[in-house]
Amino acid sequence: MTIQIKKKKIVVVGVGSVGSTTAYTLLLRQRMTELVLIDYNKDKAYGDALDMNHGLPFVGQTNVYAGDYSDCVDADIIIIAAGAAQKPGETRIDLLKKNVEIFDGIISSITKYNKTGIILVATNPVDILSYYSWKKSGFPVNRVIGSGTLLDSARLRYLISEKINVDPRSVHAHIVGEHGDSETPIWSLANYAGVTLSLTDEQKEEIVEETRRAAYKIIDAKGATYYAIALALDRIVTAILRNESSILTVSTLVKDYHGISDVYIGVPSIVDASGVREVVQVPMTEQEEELFRSSAYKLQEEIEKAKI
Ligand code: NAD
Repeated sequence: MTIQIKKKKIVVVGVGSVGSTTAYTLLLRQRMTELVLIDYNKDKAYGDALDMNHGLPFVGQTNVYAGDYSDCVDADIIIIAAGAAQKPGETRIDLLKKNVEIFDGIISSITKYNKTGIILVATNPVDILSYYSWKKSGFPVNRVIGSGTLLDSARLRYLISEKINVDPRSVHAHIVGEHGDSETPIWSLANYAGVTLSLTDEQKEEIVEETRRAAYKIIDAKGATYYAIALALDRIVTAILRNESSILTVSTLVKDYHGISDVYIGVPSIVDASGVREVVQVPMTEQEEELFRSSAYKLQEEIEKAKI
C-alpha cells in the first residue's frame, strides 16, 4: 500500500532575524512538509537549514534545505522577509527606495518559476512593497498579501489585555491603515465577549502610543523585532493552509473602502486557501474614518513619489 502524504511547501526569502525566526516557528508548529530557505547571503541560508535539520529528531520530519529561486516552482506560499531593516531612529518608509530595488529582482525571480502560489510580504514598508509585489508579479490580488497591521493589532490586544486583565486572545480589537506611524485603532469596535471596553481616553491614548512606539522600543533595545512578527506570519500561513476563513488585519488592495481605492493597506480581511478572499467592511466613527483616510493618503503619496 502506498501512503499518500499531502505535500505543503513554503519558501522563505530572506532569512535574517524575521525570516529565520519565521522559518523556525513554522518548523516547530509543523506547518509544512518542505521548507526552503533563500538568502542573498547563501552561507546564512545554508547554516540555518543545517541547524534546523539537527532539530528534526525533536519536532518531526520536514524537508528543510537552502535553495534557490527554481525551488519556488511548486511552493504553496512564498514569504518575503528580505531587505533592509530599520536602524534605530529610522521609520519604515525610510526603507522604501532600497527595498523596492531589492524586490524588483526578488519578484522577477519568484514569478519566473511560480505562477500559482501565494506571496506573503513582511519586508517594510510592508503596504507599499505588497502593492509593488502585486503589480510586478501580475498575480491576482488575492494571492499577494502583506502582513499589514496584524502585528500592530496583536500589540494593541496585548496592551488592552494587560489593562483589563483578560486573556489577549479574548480581546477583539483592530488597528487599520499603514503598518507604521499613521496606523489607526478602531476603538469603537474593540470589545471582549461583546462588552465595550471601559477605558478612559487617557488610557486609550497611552495604549495607542505604546503600540506605535513598540517596534522603535524593541529596535532600540535589541536591534530588531522578530518573535511576534514570526507568530503573526505563522497565523496567516495557517489560515491559508487550513482554509480557515479567519479574519486577520492583513494588507490588501482596497476598492472604495471608506472612500479609499487602489492602495494596499491593513484592513480586516477573510483569509482562506485562496489568500485574501474578501475585505470586511467594518464600520468606523467619523474620526476613525478620517484617520484611516489620511493613513491611506500618506501611502498613496509615497507610492506616487517612488513612481510605483
Ligand atoms: P535582517 O537584516 O536581519 O535580514 C534581512 C535579510 O535579507 C538578510 O539575511 C539579507 O542577507 C537578506 N537579503 C537582502 N537582500 C536580499 C536579496 N536581494 N535577496 C535575498 N535576500 C536578501 O532584517 P530583519 O530584521 O529580518 O527584517 C527584515 C524586514 O522585515 C525589514 O524590512 C523589517 O523592517 C521587516 N519587518 C517587518 C515586520 C512586519 O510587521 N511586517 C516586523 C519586523 C520586521
